[in-house]
Amino acid sequence: PKCAANYVPLTPITFLKRAASVYSNRISLIYEGTRFVWAQTYERCCRLASALQLLNIVKNDVVSVLSPNTTALYEMHFAVPMAGAVLNAINTRLDANSIARILKHSEAKFFFVDYQYVPVARAALRLLRVDNSESKIPMVVVIDDIDSPTGICLGELEYEQLLQKGNPGFVQQEIDDEWDAIALNYTSGTTSAPKGVVYSHRGAYLSTLSLLLQWEMKSEPVYLWSLPMFHCNGWTFTWGVAARGGTNVCIRNTTAVDMYRSIAEHKVTHMCCAPIVFSILLDAKPLERRKLTTQVEVLTGGAPPPAALLEKIEKIGFHVTHAYGLTEATGPALVCEWQAKWNQLRQDEQAKIKARQGLSLLALADLDVKNLKTMASVPRDGQSVGEIVVRGSSVMKGYLKDQEGTQKAFKDGWFLTGDMGVIHPDGYLEIKDRSKDIIISGGENISSVEVESVLYKHPKVLEVAVVAMPHELYGETPCAFVALKQEKIDNMDQKAVEGEMISFCKKNLPSFMAPKKVVFLKELPKTATGKFQKFQLRALAKTYLTS
Ligand code: ADP
Repeated sequence: PKCAANYVPLTPITFLKRAASVYSNRISLIYEGTRFVWAQTYERCCRLASALQLLNIVKNDVVSVLSPNTTALYEMHFAVPMAGAVLNAINTRLDANSIARILKHSEAKFFFVDYQYVPVARAALRLLRVDNSESKIPMVVVIDDIDSPTGICLGELEYEQLLQKGNPGFVQQEIDDEWDAIALNYTSGTTSAPKGVVYSHRGAYLSTLSLLLQWEMKSEPVYLWSLPMFHCNGWTFTWGVAARGGTNVCIRNTTAVDMYRSIAEHKVTHMCCAPIVFSILLDAKPLERRKLTTQVEVLTGGAPPPAALLEKIEKIGFHVTHAYGLTEATGPALVCEWQAKWNQLRQDEQAKIKARQGLSLLALADLDVKNLKTMASVPRDGQSVGEIVVRGSSVMKGYLKDQEGTQKAFKDGWFLTGDMGVIHPDGYLEIKDRSKDIIISGGENISSVEVESVLYKHPKVLEVAVVAMPHELYGETPCAFVALKQEKIDNMDQKAVEGEMISFCKKNLPSFMAPKKVVFLKELPKTATGKFQKFQLRALAKTYLTS
């Protein structure tokens, strides 16, 4: 019979408990001059979970956090769900307005803020107070620097002091159901409303295991946090490193100096990053570089990595595995698994194979490329393009408080990724385009609708459509096509108005979302039903290249 001995809800929390017992004296985390072993990390997580419960946290409460890759953010990945709550790690590149919207939408009960982000958090809280009833203002915990405290304050509590209040012998109650929520990650999606993607304990557990297996991560890895943990919980490696008894090397900023130094000093074996990080590593000045003495395994994704970039980064000692994913699929959903027979190929040919997005994650039951009108599978000929659809345990529970959006994301038992691709005869998938309206700039999503809605507020704008334009470093960047209310402006004025509009966006949006180029058209191309023909604008934007 199904009982407590043979049926235990799946949760990645078990990885931490196991690490504390089997790898208790191994180094769990290095941050600047601070080091912990797994027994200590476990104790600190127990303290934090217990302290949160003492502050009356209950099941399904949301704990938001704004932090770079630090000890605290890592510990929260276990402690928050251990307390029964849901972790919401916020992208640190967002502006006060976007952060306030997330805090409001998620009804966050706690807001943990790293000292570096106190100014933007303070502004977000101010906006929230103006907008909200006092009861919904989260309790604020400032995370001061554990290595060299700064004494910067915000709100009522400080992280290390909070930990001291907690019980190190805290006994975590088993979760009731593996379908319970563990994390909430906001994605810009295709609309201007924030979309809160909810993960289950089960999905997080199975995605973590699948990735460890498909990336062939052996035990005792030294893992460099070059990928922000706020990106899909660090593509699940927040939990995964604990499962392998590895060492987390946390760095505050992903500069070339810090990455090369960490790799050399701590003998890093693994790291994840968006392709833009390769450009940062390759463009480093000679003084910032260090020679790689051992091979570093890198999992890259979040945006398509050009084959030429893969070839260059491998030449300096990194060994790349390519993955594709999206927030709604708990991060990586496809991994370009390597086959031994390809080892004989020339390096440029290998890079071309690696630039394909690959095979489905083991946690997925199925992956297909379909014609969405008929839901028929396209032929696996490497030519026929269709929408990539997936089903299985790593697919999100749904969007928080957004039934309509959730329903739209699923069709006939499939999750629709909004990405277009082909399947090659060998079963490997390759992305060709995107049907959804997002721009991916340096691995960060930008909702074109969000940029458009800001530009519509500009007094001179009559019509606007924002699409992706190629960019040398970021891959893509937003380009705005605008029809002005006043039809005729001369060339001189165009430059000035373009600058005016870009600064207007920078004032009203996180600055990475501002268009790099504004093109003025007399009229925007439209379909018979009056919709903008974005494909035409995309084709036009492809002819521009910015750097
Ligand atoms: P993440 O936080 O992992 O970047 P997002 O949900 O923000 O996830 O963005 C997901 C989108 O990024 C995908 O739907 C796809 O369009 C694009 N993407 C992710 N990985 C790749 C890849 N390896 N190649 C091409 N596009 C990718």
